[in-house]
Amino acid sequence: MSESTVRIGLVLPDVMGTYGDGGNAVVLRQRARMRGYDAEIIEIPLTEPVPNSLDVYTLGGAEDSAQRLATRHLQRYPGLQEAAGRGAPVLAICAAIQVLGHWYETSSGERVDGVGLFDVTTSPQDKRAIGEVATHPLLPGLTQPLTGFENHRGGTKLGGDAKPLARVTKGVGNGVGDGLEGVVQGSVLGTYMHGPALARNPELADHLLARALGLNSLPPLDLPEVDQLRRERLRA
Ligand code: GLN
Repeated sequence: MSESTVRIGLVLPDVMGTYGDGGNAVVLRQRARMRGYDAEIIEIPLTEPVPNSLDVYTLGGAEDSAQRLATRHLQRYPGLQEAAGRGAPVLAICAAIQVLGHWYETSSGERVDGVGLFDVTTSPQDKRAIGEVATHPLLPGLTQPLTGFENHRGGTKLGGDAKPLARVTKGVGNGVGDGLEGVVQGSVLGTYMHGPALARNPELADHLLARALGLNSLPPLDLPEVDQLRRERLRA
């Protein structure tokens, strides 16, 4: 691993890996390598403290009980919070949004204190949101629709310091009736989109990668077949 290697933290894949969101780290690594950068995934399991020195972090979704283990671990070892404090990019998927908020209520009604990186709170909704979600991005620099597969019962309400990632055009999103999807607060992004989200939304992947490299943006990769496939899928 050279000094210029992009170090991608995959946080707690052993507990927050239920929905295959570890693929987001693989996408970041691949898009970095395709541009000539060395890149490595550093898995941070429940048996190890969270380092604060990595270049970018990803956390996946999980069911309520796993979510609680992850919350406790992140509170005990605040490396992720320290990294976010110095502006390291972080991607939080689904349950990870809830864990990074002030608190979330599980489907059995128990309230659990979160990590406090996002000014959001989450409560269970009557109906589980399952299916395709499509959105229009609100994050400056993103122009392409963001899409993914959502599967959650929690509905997340944004406070004044948290901005939405996108406006929903199909599906449920954050699930509290405001038509919004995801969260942006400083360098920390959250979305309910599985897929993995970065495999389905290369522009979002490059947004995170650029920040991990200390750049404002990256030139797009020339992948005409992938672009064509994405256009066809969006039409469908
Ligand atoms: N347990 C959470 C919920 O149902 C998160 C689910 C997920 O990460 N897909 O809201």
